[in-house]
Amino acid sequence: MNATPVDPGSGVVYPVGLRLLGRRVVVVGGGQVAHRRVAGLLDARALVTVVSPHVTPALEALVEPGSVNWLPRRYAPGDLDGAWYAVAATDDPQVNAAVAEEAERARIFCARADDRSASSAWTPAVGRQGDLVVGVHGGGDPQRAVGVRDSVVRGLTDGSISDRAGRAPAGGRRGGVVLVGGGPGDPDLITVRGLRALSQADVVIADHLAPLSLLASLPTDVEVIDASKLPRGRSMAQEQINALLIEHALAGKRVARLKGGDPFVFGRGMEELEACVGAGIPVEVVPGVTSAIGVPGLVGIPVTHRGLTHEFVVVSGHLPPGHPQSLVDWAALGRLRGTVVVLMGVNTAAAIAAALVAHGRAPETPVAIVSDGSMPTQRVVRTTLAGLAKTVAEEDIRPPAVWVVGDVVGLTA
Ligand code: SAH
Repeated sequence: MNATPVDPGSGVVYPVGLRLLGRRVVVVGGGQVAHRRVAGLLDARALVTVVSPHVTPALEALVEPGSVNWLPRRYAPGDLDGAWYAVAATDDPQVNAAVAEEAERARIFCARADDRSASSAWTPAVGRQGDLVVGVHGGGDPQRAVGVRDSVVRGLTDGSISDRAGRAPAGGRRGGVVLVGGGPGDPDLITVRGLRALSQADVVIADHLAPLSLLASLPTDVEVIDASKLPRGRSMAQEQINALLIEHALAGKRVARLKGGDPFVFGRGMEELEACVGAGIPVEVVPGVTSAIGVPGLVGIPVTHRGLTHEFVVVSGHLPPGHPQSLVDWAALGRLRGTVVVLMGVNTAAAIAAALVAHGRAPETPVAIVSDGSMPTQRVVRTTLAGLAKTVAEEDIRPPAVWVVGDVVGLTA
């Protein structure tokens, strides 16, 4: 690709969206550039023919399932017969020139990868957000186009550029709920899909452990409800959340339910999903980075390691061992060799450590406690199972924190 800006006068283009469904397109060349072009053409469901003696393995992978017709030979005049569009992307300028000339004679638009000034068509830098397509031409400067495309896509993703009309599907509004996993707290750790769901929401109902700073950039007309501030007791609050999800969705709103970590890891996500489904409301689930894996990972602790640990268990410590309502087999966890990750287990740390040791886990097994994972106040404290109770008290560990038991804690890179 020729990255040199061309004369601004010749940078004038007439942007169109080619509807290539079922139309023949010929790509001459089989390298990386050809592969990128072919991928885009296949997105548009064009009938793609690749002419090249060799193709990259990635391109070959597209040929095998029959998506692409590959002619494994050099370009020959006449190859463009019947094509609506052509791409000249070989590493031989003479071949590219010959393709461009044939295209010119046959009045087929042709993008020549090595020489923009000799191309009758320029491909824009393209970004997609669902069915919204952004194409940017940089006045002949591809780097400029890519920069602007990136900014626009980022803006659409984080909501700073609004796609208001996109919120209302053609044919009337249909409300729905998206359960969004927000990751452990740092706004950077939400998924791209989660961020998009937030930016398209009319109503956001957020948990206190969700990355709340993301809410600051939402358009002012988005209604934000802080679920942790809903009045009354905890279980009542859950019923209220379910009722709010249903009420807003039935009113035709797009509701994003922003939760900490992953919605289905001790997040009551399934209860909300069931409530919505029961009310006939469509629900989408956007997974998140769970603190159970992500928070240890942030401090360099892997939950598994080859040759050391072939298992990890994530357990809720909100009820201590022996509690009548506990569903955890602590004795089995005490016999486990692998990694145990405890969530909601700051207050119960002493009782849990004692139970694990009582059932066979070595008292000197290393433990790491990570509080406020991914937040500016993140802290990691290392101890052992035997020392855990003392450490939690002396270091004044406070939720949110996860603690990890196992040999993986002793690994240092
Ligand atoms: N669905 C969440 C977990 C909700 S339970 C997830 O997948 O991460 C809440 C518990 O998660 C907290 O008590 C704590 O143990 C853990 N947790 C959540 N965010 C955390 C963070 N940033 N740092 C440490 N622990 C966190």
